[in-house]
Amino acid sequence: MSRIGYRYKSQTDCRDRCLNSLPLADGLKSALLSLLPFISHAIQNDRQHRRFLSVRNRSHHRSLPAICWLPHSIPLGESAGYDQHRERQNYNCCESQMINQTKTIATEQVVSPISSSKLNKKSLCDYVLNVASGCLHGCTFCYVPSTPVIRMRGKALQEKGVSDPQLDWGDYLFVRDEVPEQLEARLARNPKWKETASGKGVVMLCSGTDPYQNGQTAKVTRACVQVLLNHGKRVRILTRSPLWTKDLDILVHPNVTVGMSLPHLDDNISRQVEPGAPLPSDRLKALEMGKFAGCRLYVAMAPTAPVHGVEDFQRYFDAVLPLNPEVIFWEPINARGSNGKRMIDAGIDWVSQVTTQKQWADNFYSQYNQIIQVLQERSAIHLLHPWFDPALPTIGGVDINSWFYRPTIEQWGE
Ligand code: SF4
Repeated sequence: MSRIGYRYKSQTDCRDRCLNSLPLADGLKSALLSLLPFISHAIQNDRQHRRFLSVRNRSHHRSLPAICWLPHSIPLGESAGYDQHRERQNYNCCESQMINQTKTIATEQVVSPISSSKLNKKSLCDYVLNVASGCLHGCTFCYVPSTPVIRMRGKALQEKGVSDPQLDWGDYLFVRDEVPEQLEARLARNPKWKETASGKGVVMLCSGTDPYQNGQTAKVTRACVQVLLNHGKRVRILTRSPLWTKDLDILVHPNVTVGMSLPHLDDNISRQVEPGAPLPSDRLKALEMGKFAGCRLYVAMAPTAPVHGVEDFQRYFDAVLPLNPEVIFWEPINARGSNGKRMIDAGIDWVSQVTTQKQWADNFYSQYNQIIQVLQERSAIHLLHPWFDPALPTIGGVDINSWFYRPTIEQWGE
């Protein structure tokens, strides 16, 4: 098992948060923000001026390390603005501690390399293959840490060095590097295959982690895709990382579709809610590269934030539709569970707009209607595949049930 230092995750985030909290005029803040990269660059070469900080979210005992590049002339941790910021965000930041934060990265073995899946209800697949457990992207809204996959393995994960598998989500990764060989053996031994109308016999990588989050998972993913294609299986990749573009030599294939989780094009919001994931702007570039290479593509516009409205959706579709996605899955953020509390604890204020059942349902239908309008204006409504939730009330005559198990319009070869 290796434990690696992790310093850069919140560097910019911490710097921007610090500056934004100072009692300065907006114009001055903007000017400082635009200058900071240059100041940072200068400071970067001077170790005496570096400040290694530990950002600790006390509400759920999760450490978010950061390096703050603010110059010493702004008294970190002492300014009134920063204290307000600290109070509001529940952060114990800028304490001039050396970073000793580590991430746990190791390998693990699993009994079965592939599982039958119920995600055909969302028209994604009939099987899922997870190349790892844990996920370094650490999205605050992620539902995976509250699923039995993680909850039931609490003790086992603790024995591997994870102190709290749910609260430390984003800080550990166990790569299943033996899965490609196991998969080959499983497919050779038992060619029986399930194929439902909405799952289409597809194998999705991944449902509980990101297949391309780093080089290790990318290597396992690549090997698994090769095994699956050798056995004539259909593959759906779903990732937040542009690393997949390094595998275009095998991913440009009629039996492979690559999707990026691209909830919006807002890099600032992404930094808040997907702290370890590549920025949406980088994901968009990856999709452009995939289109150029002739790769089958789709997007998962999920989860959209309640702060986004018609203009954001217009910008989004104007950027995404030229990439010719075969389908656009969509769902808004669902923060009614423990993930909502996690997001509020992490200082994501707008989540409080959608934490009750009514707020969530109202936002769902409001964004649904806006998205329909924007796609209709662009003659692309046929691409939309909403992921309705059975807990939603029926409003405006929308037939929610008709969307469960409805095959997507994607075309797969024989
Ligand atoms: S990339 Fe997916 S699995 Fe990983 S933390 Fe984000 S939502 Fe969860």
